[in-house]
Amino acid sequence: MSRVAYVNGRYVPHREAAVHVEDRGYQFADGVYEVVCLQHGEVIDEDPHLDRLEPSLNELRIAMPMNRRAYKHITRELARRNGVKDGIVYTQITRGVARRDHVFPAAGTPPSIVMTSRRIKPQDPKLFDTGVSVMSTPDIRWTRCDIKSVSLLPNILAKQAARESGAYEAWFVDKDGNVTEGGSTNAWIVTKDGELVTRQLSNSILGGITRRSLVKLAADAQIKVVERPFSLEEARGAREAFLTSTTSFVTPITKIDGKPVGTGKPGAVAARLRELYYGYMGSPEPGAA
Ligand code: PLP
Repeated sequence: MSRVAYVNGRYVPHREAAVHVEDRGYQFADGVYEVVCLQHGEVIDEDPHLDRLEPSLNELRIAMPMNRRAYKHITRELARRNGVKDGIVYTQITRGVARRDHVFPAAGTPPSIVMTSRRIKPQDPKLFDTGVSVMSTPDIRWTRCDIKSVSLLPNILAKQAARESGAYEAWFVDKDGNVTEGGSTNAWIVTKDGELVTRQLSNSILGGITRRSLVKLAADAQIKVVERPFSLEEARGAREAFLTSTTSFVTPITKIDGKPVGTGKPGAVAARLRELYYGYMGSPEPGAA
């Protein structure tokens, strides 16, 4: 089955899918994106993702090119045409095509929308036995990290540096020494006193949809989540650490900057939350018989 993309109203072969060189996404990173996960053909947390996409567009004064119903239909149709039952649908919406000029193009310039879909492999169960490592790096991003902008240079550079140092993810640290979030994930710890902590929502982090669901799942399971900043120092001395995202789900962290977190093994709280999250998605845990 050959891949298909959706570009401005048309399903086109993936290898030919393109926007104009003067698309403002290409010229200025003037746009936003979303990523939803599909499990067994079901779109996970679809409305919460749209509840994030719309304000991101509003903040940038870009119009949503279609209503929710049409968007949901295309999401499913694209997954179907690509044979994706377990995978992702990626959406990018930009301010459209116009002669290069920083200021907004003429009113009525249509936004561009591009959507792609692909399968993703189930998470390697080994990750749950070994955990992953993170590398800290100064948070050099702008002050509107709550907008899911396609402008991701600091994230790209941080994640590349992490990769080159053998780490799975980069953790951004603000000027006060507090962890904001990962390059493409939210950050969590379980403190020495057993407090489950993740940074509170603000302009300093992206409000992760996985984070959002996990806060609810934890509350339902009588696990208290404290939403507050935590320092890199506190994380280094924590009992557990883990990260969350649409494609990483709940992944334990066992090393920060090369030093073990807690016992150096994935922790029980992360394992419990992962179980709750897989249950929520209606998926068996990877590696489960
Ligand atoms: N933080 C950043 C900077 C991200 O890019 C992402 C996902 O792309 C997340 C957090 C996690 O968000 P979600 O759980 O919605 O995937």
